[in-house]
Parts: sequence; structure tokens; C-alpha cells
Amino acid sequence: MADFDVLIAGGGPGGCAAAISLRNYAPALRVCVADPGTRSPRNLGETLPPQAGVFLDHLGIRERFVGDGHVRAYRTESAWGSEHPIANEFLYGVHQCGWRLDRERFDALLAQTARERGVDWRRDHVASVTRLDEGWAVRFRDGGCHTARFLVDATGRNASLCRQLGIVTRRDDRLIASVVRFAPQAEPIDLTVEPCADGWWYATALADRTRVLACMSDSDIVREQGLAGLDGWLQRLDATRCMRALAAGLTPLEAPQLYPAASLHRSVPAALPMLAVGDAASAFDPLSSQGIAKALRSGVFASYAVADSLLRGDERGRTRYRDFIADEFTGYRETLAQYYGRERRWSDRPFWQRRHANEGASGPPQLTDRRESEQMRALRQVA
Ligand SMILES: Cc1cc2nc3c(=O)[nH]c(=O)nc-3n(C[C@H](O)[C@H](O)[C@H](O)COP(=O)(O)OP(=O)(O)OC[C@H]3O[C@@H](n4cnc5c(N)ncnc54)[C@H](O)[C@@H]3O)c2cc1C
Repeated sequence: MADFDVLIAGGGPGGCAAAISLRNYAPALRVCVADPGTRSPRNLGETLPPQAGVFLDHLGIRERFVGDGHVRAYRTESAWGSEHPIANEFLYGVHQCGWRLDRERFDALLAQTARERGVDWRRDHVASVTRLDEGWAVRFRDGGCHTARFLVDATGRNASLCRQLGIVTRRDDRLIASVVRFAPQAEPIDLTVEPCADGWWYATALADRTRVLACMSDSDIVREQGLAGLDGWLQRLDATRCMRALAAGLTPLEAPQLYPAASLHRSVPAALPMLAVGDAASAFDPLSSQGIAKALRSGVFASYAVADSLLRGDERGRTRYRDFIADEFTGYRETLAQYYGRERRWSDRPFWQRRHANEGASGPPQLTDRRESEQMRALRQVA
């Protein structure tokens, strides 16, 4: 008998949602989550959009989440396609309010809930997986080994299990976030977006009220424009309007931190007793602010497919899950192309030409897979 029915690699929103939902829906299944717990705070200033509330309800964590220090968000502001920012009021929507997340607390709440619901939590890194006649052998970085009937890759956009198994990544672009935190603590602000000649910026506030500004551009442009170093980054900031005003009088706390942010999609072959959830399955442009809600949703949907497969031998849920992720990504690419198409002020610049070339098609042509980690290493060396 395998040590676990389901082993989930990665304890972020996608992995935890899958684990909690599995325990709720199929309590007979033995579920393990492995996560090294060593991720340093990323300070991206992530917003949880209002519609994510249904997944907090579904996982039974809304009440504790609301009392956990996240800041309510009632609108975003965007100067997309115009010099003047326009507010998108959440209050006009059904769900009314979103949240500016304290990401560490959010992940800690999800992990604690998973443990309370009976998930076996292993603080370790999955180093390798090997296919057995029935299920998998999973080797951990500390040298231990366990067997599992089913695997879930929830390791984020690097998808370390998928990559190890040679599953192809289809990547649409080479978007990079170049992120700087500012002090002292300033007044809270709404998430604000401002396009520029070579990409777009966002500004937001963390729960500790430090301000975060990020420049989003393609990796070659980040290199050319020196956006990986503080001097080049501040020069580009100076050429903006809203962002410059939001950073006025504040001091940068560090050199830009670089994070990959490309749109990508992976499809796990039906023959493998494995699914990918969250960013491991598909990653969206941060312009959408959908990454965490999408990770929660895919974790919940995957849990039903996994339980039906293991408890009833019913594989239709796995097929539906894979189709859902593929269709969701197709719809997302179309919406993203339309959204980028609404900004025409810098149509002669490479960043915008690349996005406008996708209009009318079902999204951009997908790029051959080059490991993002290699790309990031090269950029950090330049910085
Ligand atoms: C600049 C930027 C801004 C963003 N802004 C927003 C926003 O405003 N709103 C929003 O919703 N989303 C936003 N996102 C996206 C969001 O951060 C992700 O979509 C989300 O974190 C995905 O969750 P996940 O659970 O799939 O992966 P992750 O959160 O990346 O979690 C993966 C986990 O797996 C663990 N792991 C990795 N490898 C292994 C291994 N081998 N074994 C075991 N564990 C492993 C990691 O330690 C980590 O804990 C933004 C992203 C970027 C880059």
C-alpha cells in the first residue's frame, strides 16, 4: 500500500486549496503536502480580487481570513489608454470588496487550515519523482522517500515536477517584474496601473504600509533599459506621471527585485496519475490580478477530479479538469490581447508591437521553451 493517496508538492494557494478541498470532499484519502517553507517574502503587493471570496467560503476560511490583517480594497485605478487614471470601483460589482494581501499570513492560514483538516504536512522539498507500476516514488531533499498513488504539482510557475517529467511549457512572452519597495510608511493607496513606452507600472501598498512600485517589461527591454539596476529603474520612473507622484518623497529600500511574470500553460498527459494546479498549470500576466484566485479555483477543481479517480476509478473529472484549464487559458489570452490593444500611445515600440501583433488571433504565438530560471540568472548578473 502506498504511504499516501495524494502527494501535493507545493504549499502555496494552489496546493493548499487542493489539500483542504480533498480532505473536505474525500476524507478517506490520505493527503500529504510537501513544502520547504523557505520562500522569502516576495513583497509583490498582491491583490485578492472580490470574486476570490467564493473560494474562501468554499474552503471555510473566510471568517479567519477577514480577521487576519489584510487590507480591504474597494477599487483599482488605471491610466490605461489615457493620461488620466480611471477608477474601477469594486462596490459596483456583486462581491464589492477585495483585499490587499499580507501574503505570508495568507499562506500561513492556508497551511494551518490544511493541517487542522488532517493533511500530513511535510516541511521539505520534493527532489525527484519516479513512476512505479502503481503510483509514484517521491524522493525528498532530506533524503527520505515516500510512495503516493497520485501527484499534484503545485510548485508554482517553475513546475518542478512537470519539468522533471519533461512536460513542455508553452510560454507567450518574456514579461519580467522589476520591483522596488519604498519607505517610510506612507498613506495606503489603491492599486494603480500606468502604462509607459516600454511596458507598464503598478504601485500598491503592503500591509506594513511600505509602498511597492513595479515596472513590467520584457526581459530584453529590462536589460537594454537597465531596469535591473536602481539607477536605470529610477530614471525610467522619472519618465512616468502617476508613479513618479506616488514615489515622491519616499526612499527606495533596495535594488530592484526581479520576478518572472510571463503567461504560460502546461498540459499533463492523461496517462500520468498526476495533475498540475495554480501557476504550475497556467500563469497569467499580473495585469489580470487573477493568479491567486485562479490557483485556489484550480486546486478545488483538481481535488474533485483526483478523488473521483482514486475512489471510483472515474477518469472523466481529470479530462474535464484538463479541458477547463486549457479553455480558461485560451479565454484569458483573448481577453489579454484585447486589453493590451486598448493602449495605442506607443504602438511603434517593441513592447506594444509584440502585444498588438496578437490582436484578432486567439492570442500570441507561443514561444519555444527557454527556462525562466536561466533568463533570470542572466538578468541578475547584468544588474
Ligand atoms: C509581479 C507579480 C504581481 C502579482 N500580483 C498578483 C496580484 O495582485 N493578485 C494575484 O492574485 N496574483 C498576483 N500574482 C500572481 C500570484 O503571485 C501567483 O499566481 C500565485 O502565487 C500562484 O500560487 P501557486 O500556489 O500556484 O504558486 P506559489 O504561490 O508560487 O507557491 C508554490 C509553492 O511551492 C513550493 N515549492 C516550489 N518547488 C517545490 C518543490 N520542489 N517541492 C515542494 N515545494 C515546492 C514553494 O516554496 C511555494 O511555497 C502576481 C505575480 C507577479 C510575478
